[in-house]
Amino acid sequence: MTDLPPIREVIQRHNLAASKALGQNFLLDEQLLARIAALPGDLTDAQVLEVGPGPGGLTRALLRAGARVTAIEMDRRCLPALAELSESFPGQLAVIEGDALKLDHKALMGGEPFHVLSNLPYNVGTALFVRWLGGEDWPPLWQSLTLMFQREVADRIVASAGDDAYGRLAVLAQWRAEARLAMKVHRSAFTPPPKVMSAIVHVTPAAMPEGVSARILERLTEAAFGQRRKMLRQSLKGVPGALEALSTLGIDETRRAETVSVAEFVDLAEVLTA
Ligand code: SAM
Repeated sequence: MTDLPPIREVIQRHNLAASKALGQNFLLDEQLLARIAALPGDLTDAQVLEVGPGPGGLTRALLRAGARVTAIEMDRRCLPALAELSESFPGQLAVIEGDALKLDHKALMGGEPFHVLSNLPYNVGTALFVRWLGGEDWPPLWQSLTLMFQREVADRIVASAGDDAYGRLAVLAQWRAEARLAMKVHRSAFTPPPKVMSAIVHVTPAAMPEGVSARILERLTEAAFGQRRKMLRQSLKGVPGALEALSTLGIDETRRAETVSVAEFVDLAEVLTA
């Protein structure tokens, strides 16, 4: 195993005081980081996209697991520490300075399949998650997503119909992918500790149901959950053909979106796509 100084020392030497504006809460425990890097399975020679490497704690765990890592980091203060890491693992790490929300990930990864691992601030993480899971292009180039979220967001991603946390994120994550809560992470694992608990969600693509437009499914869930306490006959009024589709499928229009399963949303979208 490559001998590296503890991450705490790297942070001190490069003066990387955590920036609140950039949502920086660093993970320093190398055993925990190794367990996170193991979640996607064997990464030997695999291509990995890491968003927000910061001082490089998760990055070094990925490199030790044999991955070829492309890392996007917005905070240029972190670049010297990442350059050192790159020297310790020749040819395994490419660092891109920039905003992950503005970059074309497919192009960055040279059109090759890749795994995504990331510990991101909440708003950026959710925006990227929605982007990775959206669009008509399926299966995606990414083979898995292993993402740290606030516990409450992770619960929303893996929720089932009827759960309080069930909503658009659950449908988006589950209609053509498998999403599971892979690990709970206590707030004390971070430096500085955030106010809330975290959890890691692991997502792998599944087959896309035939004859369903992603755009139509997204429109449907947006309307349905936009007014989640209202009956479907009210919330879906503005979606052309939706009320007829409910009747065709025998879905009671007095139900609320939060009771409609992922499979039922898919059936509705299929009728509307036809
Ligand atoms: N991966 C490190 C770890 O686990 O200790 C750092 C995690 S810290 C929660 C989030 C990192 O994402 C920070 O280094 C921050 O600078 C970076 N970041 C925030 N917004 C970003 C964006 N839009 N694009 C790329 N990096 C971003």
